[in-house]
Amino acid sequence: MKETMANKKDFYDLLGVSKSASPDELKTAYRNMAKKYHPDANPNNKQAEEKFKEINEAYEVLSDPQKKAAYDQFGHAGVGQGVPPGGGYGGGFRPQDYGGAADFEDMFGDVFNNFFTGRGGGRARSQVQEGDDLRYDLTLSFEEAVFGISKEVKLRKLTTCESCHGSGAKAGSGKVTCATCQGTGQIRTSQGFFTVARTCSRCGGAGEIPGSPCPTCRGQGRLEKERVISVKVPAGVDEGSRLRVRGEGEAGINGGPAGDLYVFLHVEPHEFFNREGSDLHCEIPISFVKASLGTEMEVPTMDGAVKMKIPAGTQSGKVFRLKEKGIKNPHDSAVGDLLVTVLVETPMDLNSKQKKMLEEFEALSTEANTPAIGKFMFKMKRIFNRKK
Ligand SMILES: [Zn+2]
Ligand SMILES: [Zn+2]
Repeated sequence: MKETMANKKDFYDLLGVSKSASPDELKTAYRNMAKKYHPDANPNNKQAEEKFKEINEAYEVLSDPQKKAAYDQFGHAGVGQGVPPGGGYGGGFRPQDYGGAADFEDMFGDVFNNFFTGRGGGRARSQVQEGDDLRYDLTLSFEEAVFGISKEVKLRKLTTCESCHGSGAKAGSGKVTCATCQGTGQIRTSQGFFTVARTCSRCGGAGEIPGSPCPTCRGQGRLEKERVISVKVPAGVDEGSRLRVRGEGEAGINGGPAGDLYVFLHVEPHEFFNREGSDLHCEIPISFVKASLGTEMEVPTMDGAVKMKIPAGTQSGKVFRLKEKGIKNPHDSAVGDLLVTVLVETPMDLNSKQKKMLEEFEALSTEANTPAIGKFMFKMKRIFNRKK
């Protein structure tokens, strides 16, 4: 099992190419060699398995421009290729690269589909797979988020083909023996000391596959279609909330369950309110006269205006808390508060009469009317005197 740098084979020799081979030539050589020595094509053949690992390792290095440069300059030492702990697969090839024990079809699906056959290719796949989850971004008005709403969302997704009910088989086309597993439904692979048997992914363990593919979906069992889905948005959701609609993702493959639809919620801002969790915040301007004398004023809430008492002598920036006038938490149904910040507006653009009245008012004012000013003046004097 042990392997040392000294007896490692030259990567170019392994793939049967020259040092000057182009990336395309490398790809082609690798593909041919990997096919020839793949464990599925050589059951219980230790030598083929070893060779397959070496080929994968070689291609992993030579297909990566940086690793290739290091290898060209320093040989095996330059790319740090050794045997991983426990022996088994050398650098390039690990079973998990291809989703569990490597499957011949899947592997070439993953590695080569993109540049050889393109997606789909009409190959009848019988592996049972769950459909993909989908994401949909839904924007709500502030009120819709607070009170909840039912919304219809329209999206394109892969749905089960109605012609073949997802089987991918043409009606009445019959079945033929699966060539991948020779009808046994199982693939055996050697992994180090172990021989692993797993379900054939091509026929899903059935040992046979449809004689000809469904013409509607070209054997895929699924078709992309537009769907309208009703989504119930509970009261109290917020920006960034996420809803999961079970089974409304893409259809599964070969009878596999559908994925889920995740609706990501976005909430438009409100004219009056800012939201912080279940609490609402708003600011209301008030005249300095009303703030001085005290008053009762209308304050907006999510269920309409309510009256709020402003006591005499209210300072600008004072926050009043209106209990349970906030938002219902969708998780525990607790209701937040409404926090009203009062902002005293200084009058502008005064006429002569107003100016005169305010001057008279100022003349009559005492320190008790404006204690903060009194305090400030006192501190100023103290600091000023100390400096002298
Ligand atoms: Zn079909
Ligand atoms: Zn099979």
